Amino acid sequence: MTRVYVQTFGCQMNVADSNGLAHAAWSMGCSFVTDPAQADIMLLNTCAIREKAETRVYGRLGQLKTVKDGNPGAKLLVCGCLAEKDRAVMLRKAPWVDALLGPRDYGRFKQVLSEWGVASDEPPPDAVFSLPSAEDDPGESAHAEFAHLRALVNITRGCEKFCTYCIVPYTRGPLESIDPEVIEAQIQHELRCGAREIMLLGQNVNSYHDEATGLDFAGLLVRLGAIGGLDRLTFLTSHPKDFNRDVVDALATLPNAAPRMHLPMQAGSDRVLAAMARLYTIEEYLEKVAYFRERLPGWALTTDIIVGYPTETEADFLETLAVVERGTFESAFIFAYSPRAGTPAATMSPQVPKEEKIRRLQAVNAAQNDATRRFHESFIGERVRVLAQGPSKKDPTRMAGKTGHNITVVYPLDDRTAHAPFADIVAEQAFNWGLAGRVA
Ligand code: SAM
Ligand code: SF4
Repeated sequence: MTRVYVQTFGCQMNVADSNGLAHAAWSMGCSFVTDPAQADIMLLNTCAIREKAETRVYGRLGQLKTVKDGNPGAKLLVCGCLAEKDRAVMLRKAPWVDALLGPRDYGRFKQVLSEWGVASDEPPPDAVFSLPSAEDDPGESAHAEFAHLRALVNITRGCEKFCTYCIVPYTRGPLESIDPEVIEAQIQHELRCGAREIMLLGQNVNSYHDEATGLDFAGLLVRLGAIGGLDRLTFLTSHPKDFNRDVVDALATLPNAAPRMHLPMQAGSDRVLAAMARLYTIEEYLEKVAYFRERLPGWALTTDIIVGYPTETEADFLETLAVVERGTFESAFIFAYSPRAGTPAATMSPQVPKEEKIRRLQAVNAAQNDATRRFHESFIGERVRVLAQGPSKKDPTRMAGKTGHNITVVYPLDDRTAHAPFADIVAEQAFNWGLAGRVA
């Protein structure tokens, strides 16, 4: 039986792709291992969004060369955005890689496995598919018992927004919307496998459009929200240009919509937003946020921000900082701009010096941390419902999970909680990272 090691870098979309690839391997009779030294096939699903992500992948490829030297029969397959972006250079930089498949090549995955001697007619070795290792960090093992509770379901592939800093449209190709029947069938399948939360995925879910029926994202949400047995429905990512009132109104009708929205702002300065080709002004962005707050009170708003975009001045940066300081977001992912070869921003000038990018990053992070902690403090004494992730990685004597707002909660691991998908917890302490509490 062929043993496969899978490691995933990057975003939720890559995690979903890894699950799909692993499922295809499993259907051909493969099993999974968490130690690459035990594997016949090592699969790295890679990310190219920022330089740091690339550096980590090349570092890992170096380690896997040593593993391959000890097991020369093993094959190394590199998938994902870096496989697409570095197609020409990777085989030169890491000649021990046996094959590359970009995100649009996954139709060829089974063929590659067949060429490597994996029989395609062997029945699955276990009754239930579960992937032991699809985590972002080497050696980190997923809590297999709880992994099936959250399922990722693609509704679109690709992106054609071409924000000037972003590599994704080049690596993942143009936008495609998946048929609603296919999406529904996958959700039904995940629910049968025990999923309690479904996360719909797309680079810009708001651009969902089904040609045959004219169904848009708001309509899709209503249709999927009606599926029986679905406890939590959520989605990533919304683009502020296409995010509209219909989506907010649809969410307001859905009792199982998780109360959180991720709406990347990227910058608070109109000049920078225009240079990024984001297609909205900060006023338009904040107007959409105001409608969202009015219709969906108590929801959490999260965002992505890039600091140090080329040509960003101190005045531009202070506009971004001001939006964050006003407590606009419950949480934020804040990135220093990272030049991506082949994108328009990479050759814009002037580029912001690295130390200055770091200073801006730290200032926005500090402001956001204050807002995030205040948000977490607002739950002290409240009862929150937590979807379990398994024993806490930092403290395995306690359980960890997520609220509907996506707040991490740690709570006692005991007979009541050790195997329960949900736990009702009274929040007792608030931190920047989340909450700690007792069983209600
Ligand atoms: N499609 C989503 C959107 O439009 O917001 C997210 C795509 S990307 C995987 C996630 C985030 O990475 C982006 O929102 C952006 O903040 C950040 N990002 C993308 N390219 C970047 C770059 N070159 N440097 C720094 N951050 C970047
Ligand atoms: Fe990248 Fe912009 Fe597409 Fe998001 S919308 S994936 S940031 S090009």
